[in-house]
Amino acid sequence: MTDTHYLVHGVFWPAPPATAPVLRLQAPDGTFLETTLDDGTRLGFRLAAEGKSCLGHHRVHGPAHRDHVLCVGHAPAVRGHQCERCFVADDFRLMHDFHRGGGVPPGLRSYLMQQHWLYVATFASGVSKVGTASDLRKWQRLAEQGAVAASYVARAGDGRVVRVLEDLVTRDGGLPQQVRAAAKAAALAAPAPAGRITARNAELAADARRILSTAAEDGFEIVHEGWNRPRLAARLCTATARHAYPHGLASGSHGFTIRSACGSFVLVRLDHSDLEFVVDLGQLKGRTVELGEHSSEVPAVQESLF
Ligand SMILES: [Zn+2]
Repeated sequence: MTDTHYLVHGVFWPAPPATAPVLRLQAPDGTFLETTLDDGTRLGFRLAAEGKSCLGHHRVHGPAHRDHVLCVGHAPAVRGHQCERCFVADDFRLMHDFHRGGGVPPGLRSYLMQQHWLYVATFASGVSKVGTASDLRKWQRLAEQGAVAASYVARAGDGRVVRVLEDLVTRDGGLPQQVRAAAKAAALAAPAPAGRITARNAELAADARRILSTAAEDGFEIVHEGWNRPRLAARLCTATARHAYPHGLASGSHGFTIRSACGSFVLVRLDHSDLEFVVDLGQLKGRTVELGEHSSEVPAVQESLF
């Protein structure tokens, strides 16, 4: 069991009533193992291969139906988390051009024609973004982003309208549509006070709603609705003493006990140390690991603190 090599697909947040994310691992026989990342979970692993492998592609059949097709060749990842062949076969690839008139297959079309939400998310430094979530993934989308505070600002009739609105908020409000994982991790290593993050989010959401009220677009309504952050994220989003994890996740052995989780980021305690570190488990996506009783080396930062 411990010498099985698993391909890491990433950190996923199931919808409530689930209270913790899972690390999704693909076994060599194509079955999946999900490790729950809860407070107190010990996670130990060793990187078992160099580089990143393709995670396959999705065929979308409708709002709630999609197939995850595994990569037949176990090919290296060359375009994001995919090989060239899976990148081309992926239905979601076409999603981003839909609102600019791009053609999509019927299954993806039916997915995109469901109700969508426009949100403003704020991360631990106050850096914020505008984004979209399909109705069925309304809560998870924000949980997976690692938002510290977020507000829904509009409900749109379909995925085309919501992307037009998203572009409008970016153009007129200056809100980006992406915040890099490295920036989110750095922010969580020294989070701004909770009150400031909440106030910043409320201010930017109000700006976005004002911009949307002038939109020359039908098929949406402005909403005032908050997003409830998972309770497991509380400690990671609070300014307790912590450090950025000093080891890269591309190689080596790692092991720690999870205390808190926000998005793909976890606050962990290393063995034989009371220090806490922020680790981005999202960095494992596409990598091959072997699970086991591994430990992270406690960095020299320890001495400087005492
Ligand atoms: Zn592939």
